[in-house]
Amino acid sequence: MTERIHNFSAGPAVLPLPVLEEAQRDMLGLSGVGMSVMEISHRSKTFDEIINGAESGLRKLLGIPENYHVLFLQGGASLQFSMVPMNFLRPGGSADYIITGSWGKKALKEAKRAGVANVAATMADGGFTRIPGNDELKLDPKAAYVHLTTNETIEGVEWKLEPEVGEVPLMADASSDILSHPIPVDKYALVYAGAQKNMGPSGVTLVIMRDDLLKRIPDGLHTMLDYRTHVENKSLYNTPNTWGIYIISLVSKWLLEKGGLEAMHRENEAKAQLIYDAIDATEYYRGHADTDSRSIMNVTFRLPSEELEKKFAAEATAEGLDGLKGHRSVGGIRASIYNALPLAAVEALVAFMKEFKKKNG
Ligand code: PMP
Repeated sequence: MTERIHNFSAGPAVLPLPVLEEAQRDMLGLSGVGMSVMEISHRSKTFDEIINGAESGLRKLLGIPENYHVLFLQGGASLQFSMVPMNFLRPGGSADYIITGSWGKKALKEAKRAGVANVAATMADGGFTRIPGNDELKLDPKAAYVHLTTNETIEGVEWKLEPEVGEVPLMADASSDILSHPIPVDKYALVYAGAQKNMGPSGVTLVIMRDDLLKRIPDGLHTMLDYRTHVENKSLYNTPNTWGIYIISLVSKWLLEKGGLEAMHRENEAKAQLIYDAIDATEYYRGHADTDSRSIMNVTFRLPSEELEKKFAAEATAEGLDGLKGHRSVGGIRASIYNALPLAAVEALVAFMKEFKKKNG
């Protein structure tokens, strides 16, 4: 087998080795079926068991209450930027967006096409280095919903607690920290997340939505863009990403076997702390996010110059530490350390950081 390297990619990202091995075993034929998941009907009993397994695994892991639907859609989290306002931002109404980074900005752009989207707070001025406090939010109690991004993948800032939004439905893009720690699902009306960081491959998007929201959806939307279609057809209105859903079922099983999201959270905090400690130990590395807003999934930092950052990323790659170059829009270094990234990879990065500083400091 080709040796696996340390994969710090922001997404698609590292998947758990036992999941890949199980998928490999099943590739030529699911046990007792003689065909792979990619070759069977999405309406077959076998696939029914797979999609139910994915849903029940996620329900257990996240403690999703009965009155919430679990959907597996397509179009990425990016399509949710449009579906959320198309379904819930009615003419004459408005929605509040809290902008803590690049993905929130993209969500806002799509909402503005659908109706009135107000910025309840933006952290753009400081370069998206922190999460706002409750006292900084200009929330409209009549808003159709409040939207936020639980973890900004590019800047590496993460909400630690939900904001106080009163009775207004809270809707969140949780693409890059879903399943990294427990979340109080009942504080949200809707949560969506692309699978390709902590859940599986790209091409499938998880949507968790409270049942009472369905009543707010206007008639006349295109069938595929109306959440009711997917609720009524249990995500099988059209052919879903069967492979992606299958991998999500395996990842859920892996997480449950590891002890669930509290155990995962402890591991993730310990991994992140190792890198943040390495950053804080010297002036050479500068963390991007404020200490209390630091992401445990995407650790972002700078070096004294862009030249050194380029050198850092290139030499790291040569040593088997891949994917550390920051997003093209902000530069710097970004270590994405999702659930499936082993502690050994983080330890290797910390050792590399110390060595690099010694040689180039
Ligand atoms: N939101 C966040 C927080 C993301 O990190 C990403 C992808 N990196 C997206 C949205 C867009 O996701 P997709 O490519 O699945 O549309």
